[in-house]
Amino acid sequence: MLDIKITKTETPKAKPEHVTGFGKIFTDHMFVMNYETGKGWFDPRIVPYQNLSLSPASMVFHYGQEMFEGLKAYKGDDGKAYLFRPDMNAKRTNKTNERLVIPEIPEEDFVQAIRELVAVDQDWIPTDPGTSLYIRPFIIATDDFLGVAPSDTYLFIIILSPSGAYYASGLDPVGIWIEDEYVRAVRGGMGFAKTGGNYAASLIAQVKAHDADYAQVLWLDGVERKYIEEVGSMNIFFVIDDVVVTPMLNGSILPGITRDSTLFLCKQWGLKTEERKVSVDELIAAQKEGRLKEVFGTGTAAVISPVGKLRYEDEVFTIGDGGIGPITQKLYDTITGIQTGKLPDEYGWRVEV
Ligand SMILES: *Cc1c(COP(=O)(O)O)cnc(C)c1O
Repeated sequence: MLDIKITKTETPKAKPEHVTGFGKIFTDHMFVMNYETGKGWFDPRIVPYQNLSLSPASMVFHYGQEMFEGLKAYKGDDGKAYLFRPDMNAKRTNKTNERLVIPEIPEEDFVQAIRELVAVDQDWIPTDPGTSLYIRPFIIATDDFLGVAPSDTYLFIIILSPSGAYYASGLDPVGIWIEDEYVRAVRGGMGFAKTGGNYAASLIAQVKAHDADYAQVLWLDGVERKYIEEVGSMNIFFVIDDVVVTPMLNGSILPGITRDSTLFLCKQWGLKTEERKVSVDELIAAQKEGRLKEVFGTGTAAVISPVGKLRYEDEVFTIGDGGIGPITQKLYDTITGIQTGKLPDEYGWRVEV
């Protein structure tokens, strides 16, 4: 149990009346905790949101030793603030930390820090339909040292950003670019870890896809460029005939919490699910035979994102009628219903702040 010291701001900011967009406005407070080898994590505190002062030699700037997480708080109709499965983010943090040689954080401390910070800033949780408070925990290596080695000092910080409805009116199918030149991650690399380096590697293909008017990139495996891995910041699902299929976790795919929740719900509903290798050839054959019924991405930001169009090499495929499939819609309604308290929490996923 952390003993978190709270210093409140004396100059609270004006809160936006209606929140739109993502990641540009921040609340009044942030959580900060230090780490030093030999001393462990110390000085947990909630302080006014402020800039950091770091040496230009801080290791994070040079070799990218850092990690991040992403989850959301929702304001229920009952006026209470809820988190969705934050224990899963805590577990994933330590898997990422292990890969990046960042010290472990006790799971209960991670969740406690989020809960206390969200409680302090809970008036910042927007209440318009589809809006939420995005929570961004992250850890950076802070030794002033240009040698390549794990740092001996770190900062664990949590910031909060009110975020607008991802969909202005109902689910909106996106176009996806299947990338056959660049790769995001390889087995043995950092693909399963939530770390900035994976995103740095992805930008060039994202620009290419955006220039061609596609919303996101679908990555293929780094070895054969044949098997489907995941979308930019989402995991990917296919409904082929009546089976819900998603690529199996292989070390280069990020194990999404929305992915896990989706597989769980589909099983609960008696749908057949498969976690296995899915080749792009299989997918295109299924599409051409009319067996590819639905495609959707899963991730904290959009929750469920229907895919209306896929492009591979020079071919463009419209999925179904380009609209939203029934499984896609049901998953979206169910997960967002549980998150916001509109539906009962049968699986113990919702955590009151
Ligand atoms: C965070 C992330 C996801 C989705 O994970 P959720 O826990 O569902 O938000 C998928 N892919 C990548 C690369 C990610 O960084």
